[in-house]
Amino acid sequence: MRTNYAIGVDVGGTRIAVGLVERKGRIVKDAKRLTPKTGPFAVVDAIIELVDEVGAGVQAAEIAGVGIGLPAQVDFLRQEVEYCTNLPLAGIDVRSLVMARTKREVTIDNDGHLATVGESRYGAAKGFRDFVMITLGTGVGGGMFLGGEPYRGSRGLGGEVGHTVIDFDGPPCPCGGNGHLEAYLGRPAIAARGKAAARLFSGKAILDASGGALDDVSAESVVIAARGGDAVARGILMECGEILGRALVGFVNVLNPKLVCIGGGIGESADFLVERAAEVVQSEALAGRRDVTVVQAVLGNDAGILGAAAMAFDEHDSREGLHR
Ligand SMILES: [Zn+2]
Repeated sequence: MRTNYAIGVDVGGTRIAVGLVERKGRIVKDAKRLTPKTGPFAVVDAIIELVDEVGAGVQAAEIAGVGIGLPAQVDFLRQEVEYCTNLPLAGIDVRSLVMARTKREVTIDNDGHLATVGESRYGAAKGFRDFVMITLGTGVGGGMFLGGEPYRGSRGLGGEVGHTVIDFDGPPCPCGGNGHLEAYLGRPAIAARGKAAARLFSGKAILDASGGALDDVSAESVVIAARGGDAVARGILMECGEILGRALVGFVNVLNPKLVCIGGGIGESADFLVERAAEVVQSEALAGRRDVTVVQAVLGNDAGILGAAAMAFDEHDSREGLHR
C-alpha cells in the first residue's frame, strides 16, 4: 500500500523535534521539547510521546513508519547505537523500544546521514547522484551519496567527515582524537577563537554581537559580527574556511563529487567560511575535478526531520516492494 505520511524524529543534544511529513516533503504537523537529562529511558519516553502526538488523528495504515536520527554512531545494519557522546544512548535498543510502544515500523540512523538524505530528497542536493554533505554545528558531521545512493560504509559507521585529520598536533577533538576537522570548526572551537578576539579592542564587534559579556561570546557572535562587516570576525571565518577547504580537497580528489553541500546552523549562516572553502577547492583540487560546486544547504532546522522521514518512506517502500 502506498502511504502518504512518515514521521521524522530529530534527536539532538538539546532538543527533540518530531514531524509528520508528506511524501513531497511538507511538514504538516510538528512537536518538540527539550531533551531530557535524566537518563536514556526519559529520552526514549520523550520520543514516543512526541511520535504519538504528531501521529494522532491519522490512520496507522497511512503512515509509512518512523525514522529517528540520533547524534550517535549507529550500526545501520544491526540498528544499534554504538557510541553516543552527548546522550547516554549507547547500547540502548532505541528502535525496539519505540517500535514496541508505538506499534509502528522504526528505523534509526546517524543524524549527519539523515541530513544528507534530507538535502538529497528535498533540498540543495536534489538530483545530484554524487555529493558530499558536511554539517557544521556543535559537532561536525555529514555523509555522502555515491552513484545515487547514500553511502554508509560496511556497518553504517561511514561518513564521519568531521573526524578527518587536519593535523595530529592540532587541538583535541571531542571524540578523543587530535586535530580533527571538528576540533577546528565545531561551535566550541569557533566560540573559543571569538572569545580570544573579544578580549582585545579590535574584537569589540564580536563582543557587541554577544550582548557585551565575554562569557556569552559564541560561534554565532562571530558569524553575526562577520555579517555586519567586522574584519576580525571575517578573518576568523576565513581561516576556518581555509581548514574546511583542505578537508574538501581530499574528499573531492578521492570521490569526484559534483556537489559539496555545507549545512548545519553554522554552515548555513557563515557565508564567508563556505566561500573561502570553495576557493581552496577551486585552486587546490586535482585537475578535472574542479567542476564541483560548493553550496550551502537549504533545509535549515528541518533537515533532520525531513531526512528521517525520507528514510522511513524508503524503508517502507522496500519492505513493500515498491519503487521510488
Ligand atoms: Zn574527532
